[in-house]
This record gives sequence, structure tokens and C-alpha cells, in this order.
Amino acid sequence: ARVPVPLSDVAPAGDAGRPGAPSAASVRGLTRRFGDRAVLDGLDLTIAPGEFVALLGRSGSGKSTLLRALAGLDEEVDGDIEVDGSVAVAFQEPRLVPWKRVRDNLTLGLDVPGPAARADAALAEVGLTERAGAWPLTLSGGEAQRASLARALVREPRLLLLDEPFSALDALTRITVHRLVLDLWAAHGPAVLLVTHDVDEALTLADRILVLDGGRVAHSWTVTARRPRHRDHHDLLALRTAL
Ligand code: ADP
Ligand code: MG
Repeated sequence: ARVPVPLSDVAPAGDAGRPGAPSAASVRGLTRRFGDRAVLDGLDLTIAPGEFVALLGRSGSGKSTLLRALAGLDEEVDGDIEVDGSVAVAFQEPRLVPWKRVRDNLTLGLDVPGPAARADAALAEVGLTERAGAWPLTLSGGEAQRASLARALVREPRLLLLDEPFSALDALTRITVHRLVLDLWAAHGPAVLLVTHDVDEALTLADRILVLDGGRVAHSWTVTARRPRHRDHHDLLALRTAL
């Protein structure tokens, strides 16, 4: 994979897994065939609790296939997948159900007590309180993406899967949603697996950068010289004030 990660900013890393250590996700020998082609081919991957991992790779390298498998949305995979706690996923297109109001989109299929109150709390966190009763088609792109994040959040995931959630957004909205993701990550502490094509984005957000190639994790780097990032709430507030 020829992904131009600046090598001065990263160090080679192994798989984060140590035998017996807790993990948010542990994948062994994951294989997914379409016809006779193995898009995922014996893939191993461990994600530590609370770790923020960016996943790069060419179009068609199997990134979305991997996320669908981790989310339990694909029954045709072979291999072992262990996930600690709940998993939520936000896709590139927010995929809101158009005939359900925003609040009801968040609680679709959610089997918990007091779902509406939880939905409202999540909407408040992403700054969408006023849009709770709106129809999805009336939302802007950024609002729809925030609603999609709120829908993930309401499930209180220990593993949050983000499949290119920023790529359809304009540059300014992207910054807002970026910051929101960091904010949610800092506040809730899930492990995150973020698919992105943007190396700068990966270096800004992630602890570790993976490259998927040939159906496996072909490269794994720890980010050493991170772009300014703000896991700490205090820093986040300072950043907000500055922008
Ligand atoms: P990425 O997200 O990295 O761009 P995908 O995981 O979407 O790649 O797809 C990986 C490969 O698997 C592509 O070649 C794609 O055409 C193929 N693929 C994905 N889903 C299906 C499917 N349901 N049926 C057949 N081929 C598929
Ligand atoms: Mg994809």
C-alpha cells in the first residue's frame, strides 16, 4: 500500500494485543470471500480499550467489509471476532430513516428503558436539541452526520466504528464534526476505529494508524508526533474558545 504517511511522525507498531490483556476488539484469522476472491484474508487485529485507531487503505481494500464484520452485520465471515461490550457504527452517509423524526431515528431498535430521554441527551451532546422533532431530509449534511453520531452514542458503545464519517462534509463542517468526535471520545472513552483517506486526519486523531492491504493489516504505526490533539476536556474547551 502506498499511503504517504510521513515516516518522521510515526513508529512501527505491532498488533496492540498482548495475550490475556483486555481488549475492545480482538480479531483472529478473519476471512471474507466474495465469490472466489478473499477480500479479507486471515486478518488479525487487536484494539485496546479506549484506543483511537485510524484505518487507511485503497478503495476496495476491504475497510468497510471489516467494519461490517466488527459490527456484526455480516454473517458470511470466517474467523474469530471478540468484542467487549456494545458496538455502534456511523457510516459515510448518515442513513437516517426518512419517515422517522430525528429523535425516533436514534431509538430505532434500541431496547433500553427510557429511550426517548436517552435520545434527547445524545442530541444535546451533538448540539441538535432543536432538531429532535425534525424530518431527516430537512437536515444539513453536518446535522445529519451529527444525528448519525448521536444514534451511535445512544447505544453507549465500547467500540465506535466510523466509516469515513467526514468525507462528505465541507471543510468547515468537517472541523466541527472532528471536534465533536474527539469530544465524545474524551467524554465516553470508547475505542474508536475510524476509516479515513486523510493522513492528516489520521495523524490528528489517532493513537495508531493501520493500513489494510492484501486482506490483512499490512502496516501498523504508533503516532509519535501527533498533530495537536485534545483528549483532555480542558484543552478541548480552550480549543473551542480559540476557534
Ligand atoms: P473499501 O471500504 O476499502 O473501499 P469494501 O470493503 O467496500 O472496500 O470492498 C472491498 C471489496 O469487496 C471491493 O472489491 C468490493 O467490490 C467487494 N465487495 C464488497 N461488498 C460486496 C458484496 N456485497 N458483494 C460482492 N463484492 C463486494
Ligand atoms: Mg468503504
